[in-house]
Amino acid sequence: MSQFDVIVVGAGIHGVGVAQAVAAAGQKVLLLEQHSPAFGTSSRSSKLIHGGLRYLESGQFHLVRESLLERTLMLKNAPELVRLRAFHIPLYRETRRKPWQIMLGLSLYSVLGGFQRGCRFGLLSKKEWSHLDGLETDNLRAVFRYYDGQTDDALLTRSVLQSAVRLGAEVHIPAKLIHAELHNTGVRATVQQHDRSIDVDAKVLVNATGPWINHTLQCVTPTPPLRLLELVQGTHLVLPGQVTRGIYYVESPRDGRAVFVMPWYGETLIGTTETRYRGDPGDVKPLQAEVNYLLQIMKHYFPQRAARAEDIEHSFAGVRVLPAGSGHAFHRPRDTVLDTDRASKPRLISIVGGKLTGWRATAEQVIQRIESSLPVRERRADTRSIPLYPE
Ligand SMILES: Cc1cc2nc3c(=O)[nH]c(=O)nc-3n(C[C@H](O)[C@H](O)[C@H](O)COP(=O)(O)OP(=O)(O)OC[C@H]3O[C@@H](n4cnc5c(N)ncnc54)[C@H](O)[C@@H]3O)c2cc1C
Repeated sequence: MSQFDVIVVGAGIHGVGVAQAVAAAGQKVLLLEQHSPAFGTSSRSSKLIHGGLRYLESGQFHLVRESLLERTLMLKNAPELVRLRAFHIPLYRETRRKPWQIMLGLSLYSVLGGFQRGCRFGLLSKKEWSHLDGLETDNLRAVFRYYDGQTDDALLTRSVLQSAVRLGAEVHIPAKLIHAELHNTGVRATVQQHDRSIDVDAKVLVNATGPWINHTLQCVTPTPPLRLLELVQGTHLVLPGQVTRGIYYVESPRDGRAVFVMPWYGETLIGTTETRYRGDPGDVKPLQAEVNYLLQIMKHYFPQRAARAEDIEHSFAGVRVLPAGSGHAFHRPRDTVLDTDRASKPRLISIVGGKLTGWRATAEQVIQRIESSLPVRERRADTRSIPLYPE
């Protein structure tokens, strides 16, 4: 029987981030993953390291500010993994968002970003419009340019995982948590590894299983109340021929949702959609209606580029965890929520929702919430300055 300070379940970006932060704090940590690193949502995102310009519309200023600070840290600590890209927002006669709204949003975005690197923005001259990868110019009124980050989400996850290992984290993959028993001073976890199961003890269990959060809670005795959640799937398509001038932030003519068209390893990535999902998170697949929706947007804005069903090189879907609520998922808060089994000396903590961009800040918040359950140990590193490399 092994004894750890913390067991983290799930090697998505949140799980590897917590493993890194716990190891950096000098604690003994075990990370478990049922399939492979970034098997879940963390390899199926839009791959943006951004404040989230659109979250300003729903007044989520704290989230935008925190994400922009994290973007600055990643540009410094992981320059080979996170790159600044030019983002273009074309505004047409029929676009719902007006030029003054975009100007106001980008000004606020710069302020919240602390005028750091990547906070410049401006309007493109008409002469430059013809150099925008064949962007439709009929009825075009203005094109704004600003800057935000792009990454390879799976590679970033693996890099954080490797940094956690260098700091002393123990990692078991594949290893699935099948049961966890909470007792007075901690937790005993039962883990399925190949065809045997082993028991592991720890002070705290971190449930970083993303869309599997309630499946994991059901493995715990006594079973905590399950979270009221909505799972929302988002699809991306990879189309041939890369857009070369950066990322395009366009508005769906059908429902006004923001969609990104991005360069991606020599091809073009377009996404995402938002569709209610009820199945097992491991089974999620792009739906025909989502594929049609994205192809229609591509054709609308880039009429000369390949955008037929037979052109699709590859497609994927990921599942987002949102708090249950009324209204469209697009307008729901994107803050990360941390649930613990008890206020003082928690034995179980679950990460609900969140963003790829905020992984480090979330991990530090987890540490703060579980600190009272852990022994005092000597810190090994500060997560604000741990370098990350593609590996
Ligand atoms: C379509 C889409 C686009 C997005 N785009 C962006 C974006 O551009 N920028 C951004 O900042 N955020 C974005 N997000 C949000 C971001 O991707 C997620 O918040 C993040 O990836 C969630 O990571 P996670 O670690 O919580 O979950 P996951 O990545 O899903 O990881 C959970 C892991 O737990 C493992 N697991 C489950 N059960 C067990 C068990 N019993 N035992 C062991 N392992 C288990 C799974 O195999 C999985 O690997 C997007 C989300 C979606 C859906």
